[in-house]
Amino acid sequence: MANMRSTKIVATLGPASSDEAVLRRMVEAGVDLVRLNFSHGTAEDHQARVSLLREITRESGRTVGIMADLQGPKIRIGKFEQGKVELVPGDRFILDVTCKLGNSERVGLDYPELIDDVDVGTVLLLDDGRIILDIIEIHSQSVVTTVRVGGTLSNNKGINRQGGGLTAPALTSKDRADIRTAAEIGVDFVAVSFPKTGEDMRQARKLLTRAGSNALLIAKIERAEAIDTLVDIMEASDGVMVARGDLAVEVGDAAVPALQKKIIRSARAHNKLAITATQMMESMITSPVPTRAEVSDVANAVLDGTDAVMLSGETASGKYPVETVEAMARICLEAEKYAEVTLDNDFLDRVFTRIDQSIAMAAIWTAHHLKVKAIAAMTQSGSTALWMSRLNSGVPIYALTPEVSSRYRMSLYRDVFPLLMKQNHTDRDSLLWEAEQLLIEHGAVQPGDLMVVTIGEPIGSPGGTNTLKIVRVGEHPNPAAPDSGRGTP
Ligand code: PEP
Repeated sequence: MANMRSTKIVATLGPASSDEAVLRRMVEAGVDLVRLNFSHGTAEDHQARVSLLREITRESGRTVGIMADLQGPKIRIGKFEQGKVELVPGDRFILDVTCKLGNSERVGLDYPELIDDVDVGTVLLLDDGRIILDIIEIHSQSVVTTVRVGGTLSNNKGINRQGGGLTAPALTSKDRADIRTAAEIGVDFVAVSFPKTGEDMRQARKLLTRAGSNALLIAKIERAEAIDTLVDIMEASDGVMVARGDLAVEVGDAAVPALQKKIIRSARAHNKLAITATQMMESMITSPVPTRAEVSDVANAVLDGTDAVMLSGETASGKYPVETVEAMARICLEAEKYAEVTLDNDFLDRVFTRIDQSIAMAAIWTAHHLKVKAIAAMTQSGSTALWMSRLNSGVPIYALTPEVSSRYRMSLYRDVFPLLMKQNHTDRDSLLWEAEQLLIEHGAVQPGDLMVVTIGEPIGSPGGTNTLKIVRVGEHPNPAAPDSGRGTP
């Protein structure tokens, strides 16, 4: 298992990646998690893509998780008579709730409440900030603006308020229906767009549970307010996404790089996952090679400690979906060589009172200082592997689980390589031997190497991890072998 990549790659599926051969090559190139963007496509489209993916991974044996990304309250303008208009700086332009088909003077609006959320002087950013409008008058059904930065404005482009402050709730009626669809499809993660507080995430969790899903919840940090409530949001979530597209529009693009570092650092400190998203390899939508700036961007996210780097348009609608994944995998691998091991310092800030968490912490610390080849964490839920992976030790963590759902959820954890292991045995020696064989089979260790194993005893009864063992690979005979004197377990 030379060239094992620790940072995970999330690829958005779309027309460019719906072909079986392309998706197969993307998976081979290193996709760890696919994102279904619920802003586009029907439930049938998503279901068809998932079925195709499951078929491909069944054959290849690779673990690829699935994330549903809810659209959320993205406020949009309506359509234009001609599909688009040209806005000139200094011109008046009206956002009008009653307008059916727009022109260069006015356009419709899908969120009438916007009028209550703005004041004269509020700055509106359209099309990810490409067009900037200053509000000069407010009426009951419309707002009048002057164009500060003009350009081409086409149908249904998004609107953000500079500085945030829109009252739109995080979960729309479409999101509620999509949560039910996501649960039916059997996704492993659900990403909630535009949460403002932890309450938005708790609400999403309730709906998801009611729909029969225990998918992990990812909060997309893309509202200015979410920066102030970051810890509250994080505590109600399993992970966060640095959703740099909308976040940059709300807080200003220059603030995003430092916020990215802060959000990732905070996620790891709170035992949560972090995904870095948007425009990571944007030029590869039309070019077979990335720009130098994109290479640095991906590498810097890896050095910031992100669990995963995400592709959007590059794999959903770009010309080079496979090449983009290959390039991203190559950049991550190289950057990981320079990731600082900060385990001893990180350790000082951690407080843990649970037995299973203490074993996880002891295992990672022991593994690092003994310079073992690998950790084998026998886990049901994946918690042990998550705790270990929040500290940067440089030691690969093999999470051996009998639970299919845990295996897929761990597809996002940095440094964690999930493997399915039935764990049929009820005695420790047989289980250890089985774990050792699995790691040898995957090229993770070889006879003579040291590895650290964590396990819950008594074997076979429910309960948390409570045991740590240091194993010299090959020293234990197969307990089931005739000359082991122990008979078949
Ligand atoms: C973003 O805004 O950066 C993002 C990831 O969300 P979406 O792609 O849904 O706009």
